[in-house]
Amino acid sequence: MNIAVVCVGDELLSGDTVNTNAAWLGERLTERGVTVERTTVVPDRIADIARVVNEYRAEYDAVVTTGGLGPTHDDMTMDGVAAAFGRSVETNEAALEWLDAEGGYHAADLAAGTADLPVGSEPIHNPEGVAPGCVIENVYVLPGVPTEMKAMFEAIKDDFEGERRHVTEVVVDEPESALVERFNELQERFGVKVGSYPGEFVRVKIESTDEAAIEAAEAWLRERADAVEA
Ligand code: ATP
Ligand code: MG
Repeated sequence: MNIAVVCVGDELLSGDTVNTNAAWLGERLTERGVTVERTTVVPDRIADIARVVNEYRAEYDAVVTTGGLGPTHDDMTMDGVAAAFGRSVETNEAALEWLDAEGGYHAADLAAGTADLPVGSEPIHNPEGVAPGCVIENVYVLPGVPTEMKAMFEAIKDDFEGERRHVTEVVVDEPESALVERFNELQERFGVKVGSYPGEFVRVKIESTDEAAIEAAEAWLRERADAVEA
């Protein structure tokens, strides 16, 4: 399963807010065996949200968006996602009812537009806040506030499933350039994916769906490289 993450927010682009949602979703989806093919940050602008969501919903199995929910002037995501499907937004009665019955808010007290969702979408209730998210076909719309986003991901996570990948790491005290040949051989012999992350030492990540292949590849590399305990 290949998916794309779209994070909405001017404050993410300007660096005012660090995009921890993307990192958290990347980690959670990857550990479920899902491949995150894109993470894109877009401004609070309906046309940009619509364009990217429309492109990605056609290209990937699913799209997860975060941020820009709710009724305030800079919350554009529901309009943008609706536009990606050529639809409008309308008050979602199921979302209103949930807010009234479970969320502790009376419809009359909610800001206008709080429960506006794209026509034909299913609400995702927000146990940690007010603004509901939604699912529309293969697009999942979550809020930006990390505690809310995480709680709501729990409700939809079973839709995201792929073949689990196993990963192991070998830390090597050699220059990265000296390791190139061994990396090539690792990939060819064992059919594993090799990632190389230089820092003080080089962290070599070996990845595969085949656990035995990883163990063999790791042993092979440890015998031939100056591995250190990290
Ligand atoms: P609300 O319903 O509270 O308006 P929202 O879904 O509209 O939430 P935003 O208005 O986009 O979310 O962002 C609210 C706050 O959540 C931001 O001020 C920021 O602190 C945090 N936030 C938003 N997006 C991210 C992100 N990608 N990573 C980390 N934090 C984020
Ligand atoms: Mg908001």
